[in-house]
Amino acid sequence: MRNLVVVLGDQLDRRSAALEGFDPACDAIWMAEVTEEATHVWSHKARIAIFLSAMRHHRDWLRAQGYTVHYHALDDPANEGSFRTELARALRQHQPQKLILVEPGEWRVLQAIRETAQQHQVPLEIRADRHFLCSLEDFQRHAEGRKNLRLEFFYREMRQRTGILMNGRQPVGGAWNFDAQNRQSFGKQGPGLVPRPLSFPPDAITREVLELVERKFPHHPGSLRDFDWAVTPEQAEQALEDFIAHRLPLFGAYQDAMWTGEPYLYHSRLSSAINLKLLDPRVAIQKAVDAYQQGHAPLQSVEGFVRQILGWREYIRGVYWRYMPEYLDFNALEADRPLPTFYWTGETDMRCLREVIGQTLRYGFAHHIQRLMVTGLYALLLGVHPRAVHEWYLAVYVDAVEWVELPNVYGMSQYADGGLMASKPYIASGKYLQRMSNYCDGCRYDPTQATGERACPFTTLYWDFLMRHEKRFADHPRLGQQVRNLRRLSEADRKAIRQRRAILTK
Ligand SMILES: Cc1cc2nc3c(=O)[nH]c(=O)nc-3n(C[C@H](O)[C@H](O)[C@H](O)COP(=O)(O)OP(=O)(O)OC[C@H]3O[C@@H](n4cnc5c(N)ncnc54)[C@H](O)[C@@H]3O)c2cc1C
Ligand code: SF4
Repeated sequence: MRNLVVVLGDQLDRRSAALEGFDPACDAIWMAEVTEEATHVWSHKARIAIFLSAMRHHRDWLRAQGYTVHYHALDDPANEGSFRTELARALRQHQPQKLILVEPGEWRVLQAIRETAQQHQVPLEIRADRHFLCSLEDFQRHAEGRKNLRLEFFYREMRQRTGILMNGRQPVGGAWNFDAQNRQSFGKQGPGLVPRPLSFPPDAITREVLELVERKFPHHPGSLRDFDWAVTPEQAEQALEDFIAHRLPLFGAYQDAMWTGEPYLYHSRLSSAINLKLLDPRVAIQKAVDAYQQGHAPLQSVEGFVRQILGWREYIRGVYWRYMPEYLDFNALEADRPLPTFYWTGETDMRCLREVIGQTLRYGFAHHIQRLMVTGLYALLLGVHPRAVHEWYLAVYVDAVEWVELPNVYGMSQYADGGLMASKPYIASGKYLQRMSNYCDGCRYDPTQATGERACPFTTLYWDFLMRHEKRFADHPRLGQQVRNLRRLSEADRKAIRQRRAILTK
């Protein structure tokens, strides 16, 4: 064999650089389902299933195109369960002259493949991942010499470099973002009828995978009952069309809003398809821009959506590869508490957390503000060790791949990197959740109270967080107001908050 081409579970791109120069006469593709990927964090069943199903669909497509695929299925009795063992087996069996791999999505996997290739003395060629709009080298150039990285500078560069939503050197509409118009809540009347995202009922391949996951991982968190994710490029494209037609117009306005029983609202629900590389981010961006140009969606929505993909997604990837593996050890706030066990069950009397965790366990999904300002915020205020928070997020979402999950958790949500990525910790009291959702209606706690029997744990912990970190943030330019408000509290107030916290964290 000349080349053995490695295709990982999140590299299901039909135009992958890995396939370039492939000669069916002397090359082959290697794909492996390995138990280790489902267990190195305690993965949600839907997360395991979406990877396996999308991989099996991709395997069949590759074979139909004439590629030879050596596929190690999870239930193959010879499968020893890790990339290292399976790749070593393939290298011994096929003796390729070279191993080809596109940049993977996780540092740990890159090390495993590198080391295995070295042990077997097989040269490894790593090709750039063309799926992304910003190469890792371009990101390094952007980051060089900057003490802190900020999305806004990177995003403007990307807009200028790609010409997306640009009029010459100026942004379309005369502004780089429309955040001020985009932070609406639904008010008391609620969202009304929100168009449901397109659903993809399991086909025969997916049904087989669902059965396999239930059998192999019966005690893993989450449910497969509602599994209806896109698992092929065709389905991903349909999901995109559906989003553009029905939800993009209101995406911007309600990006930050939350509502009981509404996991998706106006969000695209495309992250898993994009991360598995079933959907090209350029196509998603172009269709959104077309919708603006055709007058179907307003600029505030289209720019907001473009910023998530062209800005955040690319920026997050750059941060991950610039700072790994040290990034994993960051813990700027010296947080050390364990993750509350209710994160795995949803069994808590805090209605917001019950709702978001319950939905996460049911679908493997929560939208951005639910992740940042409900589950993430609570862990941040409580002082949970960032590694435990990271392992939870990597486990429970169908779109979780470490390059995107880790900087979102450490940088955006937990401030574990000390402000390398976010200009301030995203902290708020229960009053924020009351404003942006209906979770507080009917909750046994009162978001306006920091002390006493009905004190909202978010509100108590918000003040407690400020007290614990008062010195650190005293001169912080973006937390000044919050620290000044803290200083209005009397000693008695502070003591009562500490006492309430002690009860909460007993
Ligand atoms: C603590 C935390 C953990 C997260 N973990 C993940 C993760 O494991 N995988 C993941 O893909 N996203 C993650 N995100 C980002 C974001 O929450 C999800 O991408 C989004 O909720 C997916 O839903 P959607 O497809 O409906 O996105 P939309 O809101 O419709 O956004 C459109 C697309 O933009 C991209 N995007 C949006 N926000 C981000 C972001 N902050 N970083 C990178 N891409 C973004 C996604 O590809 C998404 O599909 C995390 C955010 C937080 C705060
Ligand atoms: S009162 Fe507090 S705990 Fe209850 S739903 Fe509101 S924010 Fe969450």
